[in-house]
Amino acid sequence: MIVSIFSLILFGTKGESKSENNVAIFTYHLIVEDEDFDEEGLNKSLPITKLSDFENEMKFLKDNDYKVISMKEFQDHIYEKKNFPPKTVLITFDDGYYSNIQYAYPILKEYNFPATTFIIGKMTEHAKPDAKLRYISIEEMNDTKDIFTYGGHTYDLHYFDDGKSRLVSSSEEVVKDDLKKLSNIGEFKYFAYPYGMYSAKNEKILEDFGYKLGFLNNNELANLNSRPFEIPRISINSMITFEDFVKFLILLEKDK
Ligand SMILES: [Zn+2]
Repeated sequence: MIVSIFSLILFGTKGESKSENNVAIFTYHLIVEDEDFDEEGLNKSLPITKLSDFENEMKFLKDNDYKVISMKEFQDHIYEKKNFPPKTVLITFDDGYYSNIQYAYPILKEYNFPATTFIIGKMTEHAKPDAKLRYISIEEMNDTKDIFTYGGHTYDLHYFDDGKSRLVSSSEEVVKDDLKKLSNIGEFKYFAYPYGMYSAKNEKILEDFGYKLGFLNNNELANLNSRPFEIPRISINSMITFEDFVKFLILLEKDK
């Protein structure tokens, strides 16, 4: 992951003029307090961000006048082919951890940064109030819509079997059934593919269910010509340093 970000940085720093077409869409997952991150037993293979890193990253966006736009604004730019403002950024979260509300929401609110959280439908029923790794409930989704746009991340197909994402390996029948259950949780227009794994078969089904955009996790910048159901995103987790995050944003100020 780090290698691909650095190769992108090398590739992306050609030219001098500002670009108005590139957008950095960041993907976060779980956010934990710094002392919890250092605790024995925390599964470090999970995509985790320390709270202090998240705070520094959001502060950097604010202090350096990056334009954090909402998912609806992003959709309008893509569909209407109108140029993005310079230094445009989107903030997204995958899997629907409650820590997005507990830790990220107050910071996003302070800076007035909109964000999108892609929830795994079935997990909204597993929002145990006492668990550290608990998920966002439907009620909590409704209470935080001033900042969060909610999107889908399957109802219950977020598994990885034999090197394949279950969304990709499942039959159309199974995928449709899953999306039907997901639509009972909320009216979602945006979809993040589990593990970022896309298949054209799913694009047609998602469109039929009223989805407008589908998101990858391929560590590339998005731009005005990104296909609506193959929008690139950049994963941010404990393997990515603050310096990497900043280097990535500097790409937005360079021409492609
Ligand atoms: Zn996920």
